[in-house]
Amino acid sequence: MNIKLPEHVTFILHTLEKAGFEGYAVGGCVRDALLGREPQDWDITTNARPLQVKELFRRTIDTGLQHGTVTVMLDHTGYEVTTYRIDGEYEDGRHPKEVSFTGRLSDDLMRRDFTINAMAYNESVGLVDLFHGIEDLKNARICCVGDPKERFGEDALRMMRAIRFSAQLGFAIEEQTRAAIESLSASIQKISAERIQTELIKTLCSGHPEYMRLFYETGLSHYFMPEFDRLMETEQTNPHHCYSVGEHTLYSMKEIGEGKVLRLTMLLHDIAKPCCKTTDEQGIDHFHGHPAQGAELARKMLRRLKLDNETIARVTQLIRWHDDNPPLSEKNVRRAIHRVGEENYPALFAVKRADIRAQSAYKKQEKLEYVDAYEKLYEQILEKNQCLSIKNLAVNGADLMQAGIPQGKEIGEQLQALLELVLEHPEYNEKAYLLSQIKHK
Ligand code: ATP
Ligand code: MG
Repeated sequence: MNIKLPEHVTFILHTLEKAGFEGYAVGGCVRDALLGREPQDWDITTNARPLQVKELFRRTIDTGLQHGTVTVMLDHTGYEVTTYRIDGEYEDGRHPKEVSFTGRLSDDLMRRDFTINAMAYNESVGLVDLFHGIEDLKNARICCVGDPKERFGEDALRMMRAIRFSAQLGFAIEEQTRAAIESLSASIQKISAERIQTELIKTLCSGHPEYMRLFYETGLSHYFMPEFDRLMETEQTNPHHCYSVGEHTLYSMKEIGEGKVLRLTMLLHDIAKPCCKTTDEQGIDHFHGHPAQGAELARKMLRRLKLDNETIARVTQLIRWHDDNPPLSEKNVRRAIHRVGEENYPALFAVKRADIRAQSAYKKQEKLEYVDAYEKLYEQILEKNQCLSIKNLAVNGADLMQAGIPQGKEIGEQLQALLELVLEHPEYNEKAYLLSQIKHK
């Protein structure tokens, strides 16, 4: 089994060997190279101690000396070189109490989470695969190194990592490993929101966002996102839909690009449906007000998961307006763009299309054609450079003050009134005319 190592990696491994040490590429990069995927970064493991590694290379960074990691810089690229390590006992299911260095590669491979992540490679020895990693790669299977219950007991985050890797690689989770997650799911509560968020986002942005279903089935999401469990358990009897709210959500994520904002929007666009559900006399389910309530609920959830403010703002606005369907005239679309916010286009069209594609065949074509026409009008308006917000009006606050409007909230009100006028009649966006339209109290 041959792997083509990048030149820098070969250089680092040769340098270690010439100094009498061992060195291997290890972990994710070996896995990805064997799969024919481009590794994100190349990690190196060695029996040299951190200070010995530092002596061998001209430029290094002390990334985590106490954990054995030195970053070697070559042409502005960093390579993490970590000393063979045994992780000590885990005191709280999160952190090893201490790490100790070891001279044996096998000890280092044994501490790693999954068999496919526990292989090492260099040119002199070839592939070191002590736990059937190759076999599991061939069988497309995520399997713990050693006893899964023990391994998840040491670090509960590994349960989410198992699902994340299965979504990224399209692999199944081996039965014992999966059973262990089901029985230990409650221990995910020991893990910080930040670490949970990282794995959740990687799963959402993977090639199989619909594997989110595994978080529900294994019981994990019950602890970090119970609102998602409710989605999975909410049926919707309505001609527009052929799936439960949860299944519709999973399909809709497959129908949109891989960006974090778009995937989170689809995950949460119907999040308030369970609490907005009513059933009429004909037995049809309705969900009045779910976009606005969904935006609020999503904000709470995303804050709890410690997402950044920019992402929260983008996602909640897209949820708020995902079902907004202006009548198709230039005037109404201008109003819609102002209402929704220019910054949410053209993303809103992608959201609408993904939502529709994950619905039933009923009126599907019509609904998609509506979005096409909506987008065309939007593009025409942009091309004409029409004014859509207060900042593009031909007058500003200073102009109004000069015209005698007192400083304070009246300025804002006047500007808003002028914008309404201009949204109706774009040709009115002209300074002298707008000043003539000011209403003095
Ligand atoms: P990617 O970088 O694409 O997310 P990766 O496999 O490189 O995937 P990292 O989180 O970068 O994953 O970790 C690098 C390696 O360190 C893993 O391949 C695995 O061998 C080991 N590892 C990382 N986190 C853990 C953990 N929580 N428990 C055990 N081993 C781990
Ligand atoms: Mg990595």
